[in-house]
Amino acid sequence: MNKGEKDNFVVVFASGKGGTGKTFVALNTAKVLSQKITVLDCDVEEPNCHIFIKGDLIEKTETTLFIPFVNKEQCNGCGECARFCEKKALICWGVPPILFPEMCSGCEGCKMVCPLNAIVDSERVVGRIEIRQNGNIHLISGIMNIGQESPVPIIRTLKRMISRDNISFIDAPPGSSCSVVASILKADYVVLVAEETPFGLSDLNLMIALSKKMGIPAGVVNNRKGIGRENLSEFLKEFGIPLLCEIPYDKNIFNAYSKGELIVDISLKYNSLFRDFALRLFNEVEKRKNGKR
Ligand code: SF4
Ligand code: SF4
Repeated sequence: MNKGEKDNFVVVFASGKGGTGKTFVALNTAKVLSQKITVLDCDVEEPNCHIFIKGDLIEKTETTLFIPFVNKEQCNGCGECARFCEKKALICWGVPPILFPEMCSGCEGCKMVCPLNAIVDSERVVGRIEIRQNGNIHLISGIMNIGQESPVPIIRTLKRMISRDNISFIDAPPGSSCSVVASILKADYVVLVAEETPFGLSDLNLMIALSKKMGIPAGVVNNRKGIGRENLSEFLKEFGIPLLCEIPYDKNIFNAYSKGELIVDISLKYNSLFRDFALRLFNEVEKRKNGKR
C-alpha cells in the first residue's frame, strides 16, 4: 500500500473510555502500512505504544514548562499576579508572592500582567519525550511526571513534532476531557473506537458530539463485535457517521495483546482486515479533505 505525498494527514484514534482498544486499532493499522508513519502516543499519563512497537530508544528529551520566577528587588507586592492566576498557583501576602509549582499551568499570564516586570522566565521539568524507530513506524511517546497538574503541555509539545512529510497517527488519552481536545485539535480525521454495549454507545455519543463541535470529521470502528447486544450501525445512522470496520471479539487478539504482540504480525486474517480498514480510512480522509460527503 503506497500512498503519495498528497495523502499526508493526521488521524487521531480516540474513545470515550479506556479499554476500548484505540491503541490496538491505531498500532495494527500503522503496522500494515508500507510507507513511513509517525505515531504519537498522547496518552501521556499511561503511555503504552512502546510495548507493542519495540525498538531502540533513539532519543530522549525532557519536557519543560514555564514557571514564574519573581525578582524580589523589583516586586512591590501589589498582588496583580495572584489575582490574575486562575489556577491559584500564586498567593501574595508580601514580597515575593508564594508559588505552588504543581498548580501552575505555565500560561505566563502572571508575567504579562506584572506592572513592574518583576517576573522572569524559569522552567521546570514536567515529563519527557521518547523516540523509537521500528520498521516504517517512528514512535514518539510522551510521559508525564507523577504529580503534574495537567497532561496538556506535554501533548502540545508532542503535537509540535508532527511532520507533514508523512502520515501521522495519534493515540489519544481515553475520555473526552481537555487532554483529548488537545490531542484532536487540528487533526484531519478522528477514528472513534467503540463497542456495542450501553456504556460504549453512551461514551461514543459524547465523542461524536465533541468531534462535531470541533469540526473534525469522524468514522467509527466497532471493536470486539459480539461483546454486546446494542446495534452500532443503527445507532450511527442518526449521526451520518460511517462505520469503517468491525473487529470480532476473538481470544486470539487478547492472547497477542497480552504478550505485547500486534495481531497483524501473526495472523493473515487480521493483516488483511487491517489493510482493508486502512484503505477505507484513507479514502474517507481524502474524501473529507476534498470536501465531499
Ligand atoms: S504583579 Fe509583579 S510586582 Fe505585583 S506582586 Fe506580582 S510579581 Fe510582585
Ligand atoms: S504561569 Fe499562569 S498558572 Fe502559573 S502562576 Fe502564572 S498565571 Fe498562574
